[in-house]
Amino acid sequence: MGTICVTGTASGIGAATKALLESRGHRVIGVDLHDADVTGDLSQPADRERIVAEVTSACGGALDGLVPCAGLSTPAPNRLIVSVNFYGTLAVVNGLRPALAKGTDPAVVMVSSNSTTMTPGLPVDEAMAYLNSDESVMVERYADPAAFLAYPAGKLAIAFWTRMNAPGWMKYGIRLNAVAPGVIDTAMTRPLLDDPNMKSALEHIPIPRGRWGKPEEIANAIGFLVSPDSSYVVGQVLFVDGGTDAMLQPTAHPHPLPGGR
Ligand code: NAD
Repeated sequence: MGTICVTGTASGIGAATKALLESRGHRVIGVDLHDADVTGDLSQPADRERIVAEVTSACGGALDGLVPCAGLSTPAPNRLIVSVNFYGTLAVVNGLRPALAKGTDPAVVMVSSNSTTMTPGLPVDEAMAYLNSDESVMVERYADPAAFLAYPAGKLAIAFWTRMNAPGWMKYGIRLNAVAPGVIDTAMTRPLLDDPNMKSALEHIPIPRGRWGKPEEIANAIGFLVSPDSSYVVGQVLFVDGGTDAMLQPTAHPHPLPGGR
């Protein structure tokens, strides 16, 4: 049994992940704005540093797993979407790397989204901008409240970051993978049904499974990726979306290596 830090444990996927991991006998150090072992605001640099310090202290300097799940989406302000979903997430992941390196079979499960592959025309450059820019630049880039790419581009950047860093992090013994949930029934998505435009957009998403996902179904995938059951899985982005990604782009993945004859 290990010690695993999960952010966003006060609600939705984070809460379901905490419950699953605790049912398996792990100790979970929960992080959230409220109702958590460590409270703080991941949009604030000073809080990020304190959260990392408090989690490191709570686990005695050795952490076996990390699930940086805290996040938000529309109608939250883009400023928060940018700061929490990408920069806050990476501050926690990078800040806890030394503790993870001292853990047993350590694994990190990032939380991306299937908005990465179902947002028509999402420019890859938007994700690269996240990866190559300071936080203030990206907050400014999405200053227009209607700049709806802030969320999917940030989640695409999380997926890219996972794949870019997974090989290198193996030298610390840390496995990096990600889940990409589809539409999941949580406090993030439920209120969207009150907006007729959003409701209509959500109802047009093709879901072969025929329904929205449940937080527990994402937790089950996270539980696999954070455990030694997935000991040979490195740098993967697991879509848990009821089949939407496969339906929209059946031949996009696996993508053969360019070159050769
Ligand atoms: P949720 O709203 O139920 O839970 C999110 C949690 O994050 C909340 O407890 C909230 O307090 C916490 N949080 C928000 N801002 C924070 C901050 N500044 N500092 C610390 N904690 C903060 O949402 P959810 O649906 O469980 O989403 C969890 C993750 O899954 C998010 O990263 C989200 O982008 C991702 N995701 C969700 C869906 C979906 O359909 N629900 C789909 C794809 C990806």
